[in-house]
Amino acid sequence: MTYTANDQSTFKVQASELDTSRLIRGAWLCPHPTKATWTSYEDAILVFDEQGIISELIEAKDWSKRFPSMSLPNISNPQGVWLPGFIDTHVHYPQTAIIGSASGPLLDWLETSVFPEEAKFSQSKYASYVASRFCDQLLQNGTTCAAVFSSSHVQATQILFSEFARRGLNGELGLTLMDRGAPDDVLCPSDLALAGCEELIETWHGHDQGRLNFCITPRFGLSCTPKLLKGAGELSQKYQLMMQTHISENRAELVATAEAFPEAKDYLAVYEDLGLLHERSLFAHGIWLSDDEWARIANAKAAIAHCPDSNFFLGSGQMSLAKIKANQVKMGLGSDVGAGRSFSMRKACARAYDASRISDSPTSPEELLWYATRGGALALNKPKLGLIAPDAYADVICVEPPPSFSMDAERYSVSQRANQRASQQTSPLSERSLEDLIAQLIFCEDWQGMLEVRTRGQSRWQKA
Ligand SMILES: [Zn+2]
Repeated sequence: MTYTANDQSTFKVQASELDTSRLIRGAWLCPHPTKATWTSYEDAILVFDEQGIISELIEAKDWSKRFPSMSLPNISNPQGVWLPGFIDTHVHYPQTAIIGSASGPLLDWLETSVFPEEAKFSQSKYASYVASRFCDQLLQNGTTCAAVFSSSHVQATQILFSEFARRGLNGELGLTLMDRGAPDDVLCPSDLALAGCEELIETWHGHDQGRLNFCITPRFGLSCTPKLLKGAGELSQKYQLMMQTHISENRAELVATAEAFPEAKDYLAVYEDLGLLHERSLFAHGIWLSDDEWARIANAKAAIAHCPDSNFFLGSGQMSLAKIKANQVKMGLGSDVGAGRSFSMRKACARAYDASRISDSPTSPEELLWYATRGGALALNKPKLGLIAPDAYADVICVEPPPSFSMDAERYSVSQRANQRASQQTSPLSERSLEDLIAQLIFCEDWQGMLEVRTRGQSRWQKA
């Protein structure tokens, strides 16, 4: 789907169809559908239908030509810039409360911090409390879609689905499968776990016109018997489900995985041999993959969730963006909370930039912001997300950029700028280049700036 604002071929809306409650006027950042580039509009009106699906983006200068009898709508959040909601391609809901547990590296951290916390999700009351906080965190940070690991408890996963549905979030959510290599209170025997998957598929898969799906979620090879992995692979094929897991994160994990699966030729083969490598597979981390594993992931059209902050915090190493590009592998960014220290995908972009500097993988802020939005949508096989274009969901966020330090002192005052924008004298995009704007959105980490978050065009979170 290619699109530019005011492209005659994409005109859909007639004046009679316009509903003032389904218009958002402001400055817009629009990602390219397939390339990691952006187009900006200083002043344009997003039109969406009653389903919350985008009809058009119309530049303000063309409004009166299109709709001579209608005045221009007011600007929504004059100090902000709109863009697609963030997509977090790897995050653990039952780790919300243990962010910052510095007990790494990976295998020690799982045993010391993660498993005891995830065991608490056998209690529905606790699961409900955390599910609500978890969704609060996603929305506050502008994340409108996420691929989420639940705990190994069916009820806690039901609760997470309910909370996503209530908030209008988009997601691929999975029951974390584990039948070995951890304390009994987080394990679930394979037959019971697979029956739990069937129950969740029956209740939730395809909910909200396919915006909420069940995702097959083996934690990783070390916590699953071959019997459980094989059953998981069969379910992912039977229902054409996304599959998410971890791969090649930490060197000690690699050694232990090779010992646990002596017949597999490498780490990827653990999944590949049991039906878990396909075009709906999403592998988190992928730091230590061999060239042959990269080629097989590319060949299967599988995707990688790049989790740079978690990779730093647990000292795991860093995945090479150069490998992603050389092999043309789909990639999204992941917060990987709780090994990641923030739900913010803007911070994930910043950490990915840092990682690129030490792994000889040149990148740019624009490219990383694209991966955090449209790239994530492609990694999750969700073509109607991560775009400001006809037929995409109006899952959009508005962020106020930090003050531009290059401005003169008089214009530096934030309140004055807001007033100027309110009176339509200026837009966040008229004050700086697109490149500078995106860099500031990512790297000015002390600046919160989130103003509003919408899914299907409906406001889901607003700055108080
Ligand atoms: Zn993870």
